Amino acid sequence: MALARRQFDAVIVGAGGAGLRAALQLSEAGLRTAVLSKVFPTRSHTVAAQGGIGASLGNMGEDNWLWHMYDTVKGSDYLGDQDAIEFLCREAPKAVYELEHFGMPFDRNDDGTIYQRPFGGHSQNFGEKQVQRSCATADRTGHAMLHTLYQRNVRANTQFFVEWMALDLIRDSEGQVLGVTALEMETGEVMIFHARATLFATGGAGRIFSASTNAFINTGDGLGMTARAGIPLEDMEFWQFHPTGVAGAGVLITEGVRGEGGYLLNKNGERFMERYAPNMKDLASRDVVSRAMATEIKEGRGAGKEGDYILLKLDHLGPEIIEKRLPGIREIAKKFANVDPVTDPIPVVPTCHYQMGGIPTNYRGEVIAPLDGDPETVIRGFYAAGECACASVHGANRLGTNSLTDLLVFGKAAGNSTLEFLMKNPGHKDLPRDAGEPSLARLDRLENQKSGESVHETGADMRRVMQAHCGVFRFPELLTEGVARIKDVAQRIARTEIKDKSKIFNTARVEALELENLIEVAVAALISAEARQESRGAHDRADFSKRDDANWLKHTLYYRDGHRLDYKPVHLKPLTVEQFPLKARTY
Ligand SMILES: Cc1cc2nc3c(=O)[nH]c(=O)nc-3n(C[C@H](O)[C@H](O)[C@H](O)COP(=O)(O)OP(=O)(O)OC[C@H]3O[C@@H](n4cnc5c(N)ncnc54)[C@H](O)[C@@H]3O)c2cc1C
Repeated sequence: MALARRQFDAVIVGAGGAGLRAALQLSEAGLRTAVLSKVFPTRSHTVAAQGGIGASLGNMGEDNWLWHMYDTVKGSDYLGDQDAIEFLCREAPKAVYELEHFGMPFDRNDDGTIYQRPFGGHSQNFGEKQVQRSCATADRTGHAMLHTLYQRNVRANTQFFVEWMALDLIRDSEGQVLGVTALEMETGEVMIFHARATLFATGGAGRIFSASTNAFINTGDGLGMTARAGIPLEDMEFWQFHPTGVAGAGVLITEGVRGEGGYLLNKNGERFMERYAPNMKDLASRDVVSRAMATEIKEGRGAGKEGDYILLKLDHLGPEIIEKRLPGIREIAKKFANVDPVTDPIPVVPTCHYQMGGIPTNYRGEVIAPLDGDPETVIRGFYAAGECACASVHGANRLGTNSLTDLLVFGKAAGNSTLEFLMKNPGHKDLPRDAGEPSLARLDRLENQKSGESVHETGADMRRVMQAHCGVFRFPELLTEGVARIKDVAQRIARTEIKDKSKIFNTARVEALELENLIEVAVAALISAEARQESRGAHDRADFSKRDDANWLKHTLYYRDGHRLDYKPVHLKPLTVEQFPLKARTY
């Protein structure tokens, strides 16, 4: 069947912070830029970001991008690429001021400068003491950022395709990426977006876990499409569990609460973080705090009837600070935990929040993969930025507020690299003759599957396996069993059936397609986790309790075909400064 086609200079899949920032670079340069999104741009998951954007502006006390870099390298447990981290931290202040000039309504200090709050793992003078580095708009930073970037894109004539779901990448025989196939969710129409360059900014895949702070649309579509196109996924074993998801609901309570002075208590009313991280206490890195909480619960000091949560106390801040700096948090606590934090502590548990791994890129946002002996060959015409990409600045554990910084810095960098490529490569390459066929085959299978598996049940099984076998603490037998179980679920997902075959506004079809992406991510995560025989950052194994730099200071690459694993070196050399040497990580 010949599919309808449209041509653009660039197609960007994703209209969150990363996609919008990248699009702006291209549209403002006058290029025909299409942005596809499953939801209206300002409903992308960036809207949920609460705490702020990390940048060493130094508005609240001395700060320096090199200190930010040190914190990020240390936070990553030395798995982050130091060239990319230098780029991130050096560019961060510029990125924030640029956003300010686009109209971002940041909170202000009395002298008119941008207000900054403390956050976990952010320090002055290489770990000496806490610094205030997070640039915030109350606890609605992502909301303000998305609206600012969207309005700017409208002005620049970016062409939005709202409620269009990209299905598959199109590559030619030389491996160059020439666009995507996409499904219009309202009508069921499938179309080819033929582009000279394609950029993925599809966000995270936190919905592979049952307890997640992520939105339902965070289904790892970019990763699924990339894996199906034969490109490896990097460092998929590293998933961040945020210490403070509302117990039972998963909704996030920002680290900004602890930044503003809130703290964690066990059932005995003890500030237990003083034992685990005497220096940074409640503002130690997220992996450290999550593990401390899980240990308290495991050892019987959890609060509540079942002893299965921890208490987050902030009533001592007073109603004024709570209303001014954390109004959304008060609302969330009332709605999802039935407590008013002005008088009572919020029940919280570690909850899956962020994927550190993703589509391998360099710090220019170009997608890279091993080819002919070069571990980092650039894939022509393909770019990625934001949570779906692995630059790798977050390594084994992301510092709070560094994701929004990542969206701005690498969204712009990927936009600039795309621009450069387009200038040097005018004209569209011909599409391969079978362009679109793999997507049509997937849709066809869904339509014609008889006596198949239920999307709902297999999806729930996938999430249960991930939660039980690949959580905050990882055990060897559970990992091995988990790999077998997730492969089994994957086989069932290859036979899912949708009951309602109507093509119009068929959300069942979209959910089935999303599940096909989620399972790619889940399989990659479990296989990569089972193979990594050390504890580093968010990957904590009971049988290998220490970091092992001699054998495991390397990035994992997972290939879908044959579930093959490969590894590549970490970039220890920054761009212009001295390397931060490997050290034990304490807070
Ligand atoms: C509750 C919460 C609070 C957070 N707070 C902070 C914070 O304070 N500071 C910080 O630094 N980080 C924070 N984070 C992390 C940060 O918000 C995210 O990592 C970041 O916003 C992701 O942005 P993105 O642009 O990569 O993707 P998203 O904003 O998730 O956007 C993804 C886009 O891709 C589109 N898309 C996906 N698949 C397809 C497809 N197949 N076809 C078409 N479109 C598709 C979606 O429609 C969407 O437009 C928080 C995360 C959560 C969950």
